[in-house]
Amino acid sequence: MKPSERQYQTDDIVSFDPATGRKLGTVPAFSAEDVQEAVNRSREAFNEWKKSSFAERKSFVMKAREVILNELDDIADLISRETGKPRSEAIAMEIAPVLDLMQWVARNAERMLRPKRIGLGLYGLMGRSSKVSYRPLGVVGIIPAWNYPFSIPLGEAVMALMAGNTVIIKPSELTPLVGQKIGDIFDRSDLPDDVVQVITGGGATGAALVSAGPDKIMFTGSVATGKKILAAAAEKMVPVVLELGGKDAMIVFDDANIELAAEAAVWAAFANSGQSCCSVERLYVQRNAAEKLSAKIIEKTGSLKQGVGNDPTVSIGSMSSERQISIVEDHIREFEKAGAKIMTGGKRNSSLAGLSSGENLFYEPTVITGANNRMRPMQEETFGPTLPIVVFDTEEEAIALANDSEFGLTASVWTRDRSRGRRVAYQIEAGTVTINDVMYTHGIGQTPWGGFKNSGRGRTHGIEGLMELVQPQHIHTNHFPLLPNAWWLPYSPSADGLFHDLATRFASGSLFKTSLMLPKLMRRTRELLKLRKGEK
Ligand code: NAD
Repeated sequence: MKPSERQYQTDDIVSFDPATGRKLGTVPAFSAEDVQEAVNRSREAFNEWKKSSFAERKSFVMKAREVILNELDDIADLISRETGKPRSEAIAMEIAPVLDLMQWVARNAERMLRPKRIGLGLYGLMGRSSKVSYRPLGVVGIIPAWNYPFSIPLGEAVMALMAGNTVIIKPSELTPLVGQKIGDIFDRSDLPDDVVQVITGGGATGAALVSAGPDKIMFTGSVATGKKILAAAAEKMVPVVLELGGKDAMIVFDDANIELAAEAAVWAAFANSGQSCCSVERLYVQRNAAEKLSAKIIEKTGSLKQGVGNDPTVSIGSMSSERQISIVEDHIREFEKAGAKIMTGGKRNSSLAGLSSGENLFYEPTVITGANNRMRPMQEETFGPTLPIVVFDTEEEAIALANDSEFGLTASVWTRDRSRGRRVAYQIEAGTVTINDVMYTHGIGQTPWGGFKNSGRGRTHGIEGLMELVQPQHIHTNHFPLLPNAWWLPYSPSADGLFHDLATRFASGSLFKTSLMLPKLMRRTRELLKLRKGEK
């Protein structure tokens, strides 16, 4: 039976279009018992799925890609309606990158997870060899946020499946219909039952998934929830990858291409109404370029059209929830109180107020000058369409300002001097640093994604992300199993002498020094053989 055909006796969760306030549908909120049953079924499905070949897994993933391609516009429409983001942006920033990730991981997982021989150094001379192979973990629970509700959980699910795991996705309560759509895509790819399940619900359902003891949790969300998940996971020793918040810095030196930097800043600060973990939330510009860059950013921001996401001429949609917009309003008030200047925006877009039967969730893209790191909103994640600009003088100052944060997800450095770009990048405390580019590397599935400091633990994407979804198994072989090892029991004075040589000669890694201990090794081996025969 497909998960979508099962009956759940639970409270419903209602999904709304944040731009219009229209109800889009209802989904069940899975209870703790439902969740436990889902995990049990997933574990049963794993027993078969783990035996599937890479070719079989690849064919399911490629079928899922076909389903998505056939319904691309409908899926983009659903993402746009449930999040408020423009439909075109749903295609560019969610569907296209995840389709690329799917084909890449489907085609390359086998190569990346192929068993590897390990060089053993001098142990190899003793007739030993080692191989490491990568075994699936079992049931992988995916708990994503609402801001990229399609690409993040789907990408993580595909990587987990290719590594031989089964998957349970608990979508955000703000975007459950997109979550169900992912389940539907896999159902129609003829994936065996329960290899992918989608369980809808809020925080309690997510907590139940962690407590049900899956073999891994891939979490994307806030630091506060990440801490709760880490604590709950510890009870069952469930390993966790945490993809958390950001306060990403963009550093623009005065020799940079200022036109390009301005365009990049506007996109990276305001795409998805600034609700990207890797949005630029702090822009540091060198004094000589500050006026020019700020003026260009303000001008470009003023020309952006805001509205409902299904209009292809709209660049900025609505925010996703009243809770999120109220954080933005708090930060704007705080910036003003602390003496920063709101150059454009700084309020809900009143011309769009009539569009919604509920709250007006359209917040104007907002550029702020005169900000500094001591202002509270420069330290907390805003997750909204705000771009505070800070002026700096020296390279050292720019690095110190960028690193003055509890977060470290991504950062960007803009300069025509490539060696300075690299020098600065290596000193920035962030999981990804781009030079003369910004934000988009989550869309490159081949590259590792994850944060330093409070921005996360572990990685998704790339070979590093794939390695989070397997357990390495080391197989060690003794090809000449005839003689006892010299370090076995019982010990004796001759053993003691040999062990000193092990420490001083063998452990030096030098073949010459090791060869000098051969007489002691032979004496010790003869001793053990005599003891085996019962001789004194
Ligand atoms: P959130 O922490 O409120 O919720 C995230 C998910 O956790 C939701 O599915 C929610 O239902 C679930 N949840 C809530 N309480 C739970 C609990 N006790 N146990 C288990 N699950 C629980 O975050 P959000 O508001 O949905 O997302 C916004 C945050 O996500 C921002 O901080 C943003 O930076 C971050 N984010 C990070 C990345 C990244 O790759 N680093 C990507 C996207 C979003």
